[in-house]
Amino acid sequence: MAPWPWTARHLAGDEVRTRIVPWAVASPLVVVGVIALLLRLLVGPPSAGTLLSVLAGGVVSAVLLLYLSIQAADRIDEEGRHRQDTLDAARRQALHDPLTDLGNRQLFSDRLQHALARRGSHACAVLYLDLDSFKTINDVHGHAAGDTVLVEVANRLRAAVRPEDTVARFGGDEFAVLCEDLTDELNASRIADRVVSSISDRPVVTTGGREITVTPSVGIALARDEADASKLLRRADAALYRAKEGGKARSELFDERMQAQAVDTLQTEDDLSLAVAQGQLRLHYQPIVDLADGHVQGVEALLRWQHPRRGLLQPADFLPLAERSGLIVSIGAWVIAEAWRTLEGWYAEAGDDCRLTVSVNISSRQLANGELLDAIALAQPSGPAASALLVEVTEELLVADAKAGFSTLHALRTMGVRVGVDDFGRGVSSLSHLQSMPVDHVKVDRHFIAGLGLHRQDEAVVAGIIGMAKNMGVGVIAEGVETPDQLATLRRLGCDAAQGFLLGYPSPGLDLDRAVHPGPDGALHGVLDLDVSSVLPDAVPTASV
Ligand SMILES: [Mg+2]
Repeated sequence: MAPWPWTARHLAGDEVRTRIVPWAVASPLVVVGVIALLLRLLVGPPSAGTLLSVLAGGVVSAVLLLYLSIQAADRIDEEGRHRQDTLDAARRQALHDPLTDLGNRQLFSDRLQHALARRGSHACAVLYLDLDSFKTINDVHGHAAGDTVLVEVANRLRAAVRPEDTVARFGGDEFAVLCEDLTDELNASRIADRVVSSISDRPVVTTGGREITVTPSVGIALARDEADASKLLRRADAALYRAKEGGKARSELFDERMQAQAVDTLQTEDDLSLAVAQGQLRLHYQPIVDLADGHVQGVEALLRWQHPRRGLLQPADFLPLAERSGLIVSIGAWVIAEAWRTLEGWYAEAGDDCRLTVSVNISSRQLANGELLDAIALAQPSGPAASALLVEVTEELLVADAKAGFSTLHALRTMGVRVGVDDFGRGVSSLSHLQSMPVDHVKVDRHFIAGLGLHRQDEAVVAGIIGMAKNMGVGVIAEGVETPDQLATLRRLGCDAAQGFLLGYPSPGLDLDRAVHPGPDGALHGVLDLDVSSVLPDAVPTASV
């Protein structure tokens, strides 16, 4: 029922009510007064009947006016409420995560800044957490199950912290908790321990009735005098990293040791951002040998960093940092351009007989970034055909984001670039995925190659990958080949090509003679000390990589 106009004043219709209602109430008296005055002037005093009928007319018009004003006011109220609701929903959407209904990064940052600005003698802490091996849950159980886990983790997080704490989801499986007004710094660790146990203690049950056990790692950073919001988050991230290194499913408090490491990381990041511009990056090329005749069919370009103080650094020393900071995109573009430039040099030197290929490794950021296609298009204005360029992505990466990854790989193949899958066999569903992958070759993971001659199951896996790949017209390269036995087994199994210390170390240059004009058995003869034709008289595989 509509509220009585002069007792319930609210929202936008209020103005209509306050203006019209007094007029409506007064209108019968005004009408009667005006008509009485007119009659008195024209024909003398009105009769009681005339006055009554005029009064009745005035009352009817007043009621009508009242009714219309209430309708108009309600309509205005309704529109106002609707506008307010829409505004509230938009505001909420901008600050909340739609899946879990927790706050998002923006909301968390606002609250954190506010908390830091107004904190007095009480401590304030940030807990930063993610789920251990969450990607595997998505890989094995599917994204719907992954979402169920995230929603349940959000609920348990809410229940584990104090009511006044702010819980947010930053995206993926990353969450953060802001704890204000801590009377004791130890309280932050206690809350973190509660978070770990509430998530780890019992499995999450998905809609299909499956039970998934999940554990979080938590990094804790306490706000000290100088802490600002972004610094505090970085510290919590560093502590989280340490918790992961320390065995996962645990919490770790940011301390001075981490502080020193964080400074070191920042310094390395600064150095790395200059490395491309100052020409400190290098490519070393490891030969990939055709197992049919032993000639070098191509090289894999491997990144090194000639650091001005620390010497020659391996990818493991700086690539994770490059990934995290986003520098990998510009470094990756440099690798492509430099590898192509080197290849053009070799083609110019060796002449038309040259069939060398160069493989470059692509990271997840590059794969998700459209700039990869631009970088390749830019690097190949002339010279060897596009098919001399091979890009390698890890299988893990393809499975993690198959949709985006596959579309980039399809685009690359349309450009004529060939695509390979690195570390193949390590993933959870390799063989089933191979059929759908837009690839030209796979590189069998070195773990299985190391097991050749030692573990029967490794040989079975390698044989399975080779058999399946060949059925699909996909080439097979073995990586990490270090002994003649491994090489002989690979040849017996029909592997197309191989690389590893046995066949050649990564180096800044390449013996072009060996690549372009191989001897009768090429590199193999030396390392196997065998006559190739006596090993495989009929089944020498043709190179398809
Ligand atoms: Mg590789």
